[in-house]
Amino acid sequence: MNEPELKPLRFDTRVRLAIFAPIGRLLMRFGYQPFAERCSWCHKDLPGGAASYINGRRVCDHCAERGRRRMVRAAWAYVSLSAVLIIVTGTGVVMSFRRGDPDAWEILPIMIAVSFSPLVLLWGVLRTMKAANKHAEEHELAVVRFSALRAFLKESIPGDGL
Ligand SMILES: [Zn+2]
Repeated sequence: MNEPELKPLRFDTRVRLAIFAPIGRLLMRFGYQPFAERCSWCHKDLPGGAASYINGRRVCDHCAERGRRRMVRAAWAYVSLSAVLIIVTGTGVVMSFRRGDPDAWEILPIMIAVSFSPLVLLWGVLRTMKAANKHAEEHELAVVRFSALRAFLKESIPGDGL
């Protein structure tokens, strides 16, 4: 049976470990839990693999439903604001043309831009939220691995408060 050969760590890796490992241990002593199996909204226990992600935050099903409803409400608010703006600015543009205003053509693109700005904003927000959830799977995997590591350490080093 050939043993896997263990190479010594590179010098810069050792230096980094010597600096950051004690800081990490100290933070965890003070209660910092980087990959805690909790919902980040209601702080209830949430085992790995069962989480949803909203805006990059790990949440439980209950909070995900709450967040979804909140987002749908916000989206409808944006859409109705846009609809109101389209009606108001459209009326303004039509009245300008009826009056024979020579500047009516110049105000038209501005009015269109103003009317559709809430929809553009909504699109931007949705894109940002999706981008925040891009690494959700990797984060979930990290949560599972970290809890396995923690369980292993608890088993192998009794009395260690990790
Ligand atoms: Zn929750």
